[in-house]
Amino acid sequence: MSFVSGAHGTEYTSVVALTKLIERINPTKLSGTVIIVPLLNVASFEQMVPHVNPVDKKGMNAQYPGSPSGTQTERALGMVAEQVVKPADVIVDLHGGDLDEDLRPYSYWMRSGNSAQDSASRALDVAFGLDMVIVNDIDVTNPARTRSLSGFALSLGKTTFVAEAGRSGLVTAEETGLLVSGSLNVLASLKMIDRAVPPSPKISWVGHDMRVRADSGGMFYATALRGSRVLKGAKVGYITDYVGRKTSDVLAPQAGVVSFIRGVPSLAKGSTIVTIVEVFEGGPQPWTKPAP
Ligand SMILES: [Zn+2]
Repeated sequence: MSFVSGAHGTEYTSVVALTKLIERINPTKLSGTVIIVPLLNVASFEQMVPHVNPVDKKGMNAQYPGSPSGTQTERALGMVAEQVVKPADVIVDLHGGDLDEDLRPYSYWMRSGNSAQDSASRALDVAFGLDMVIVNDIDVTNPARTRSLSGFALSLGKTTFVAEAGRSGLVTAEETGLLVSGSLNVLASLKMIDRAVPPSPKISWVGHDMRVRADSGGMFYATALRGSRVLKGAKVGYITDYVGRKTSDVLAPQAGVVSFIRGVPSLAKGSTIVTIVEVFEGGPQPWTKPAP
């Protein structure tokens, strides 16, 4: 199986977690093979540029299956596709809040509509142990939805999910620990290492995420906390101009949980300000084919 992080090189918690996972696995007692890639986007990490590879300005979680004759991002992802994804039966992709994102830990249950594949990934998601899971239905026949690592892996029939922890450039022992222990729990639940899988927490199943993007630039101030429950229309923050005059309030586009909110004042037109996920009180609904 393969663990990957650092497609976004400044989501430090996920990168640090995978470096620490390496030393927690004893190869002489491991059943099967584990591939661990802690830092895909080295230029992002070195230059502290969030979201993209600064060399070619492309997203390193948005260009699968890559290409050996493409730009640096496309060439790197082509190698990941061949050497990390294709040889593995299970792919775990770790992320977190980037430099500008104040994020509550959660994982994604990526569903293809293939029930055997979906139940296998659900079991690993639950074993990982985060208490909020975003249900995300993918149409693997739509090429636009298989450009991410998880979408690509799903389209190849792999068992896959995404887990996120960390925020705003911070590396805390608590959030790093969530990703390290979650990864060990996955290995344990697959019987690849000898470890008891702790009972899973009560999971909030959520989805239908709606994000607010900035209509114009300015300075953003959050008033809602990551992870808080909000009603539709609730104020989650406000924007000022560069001399501090308020220009607008930012309102929740739906009721739900703040999965992440902008953690810095910098705001350009089009920037993501907040994402709200709907809470599925009765648990996840069956897979439905998403609109193209
Ligand atoms: Zn990321």
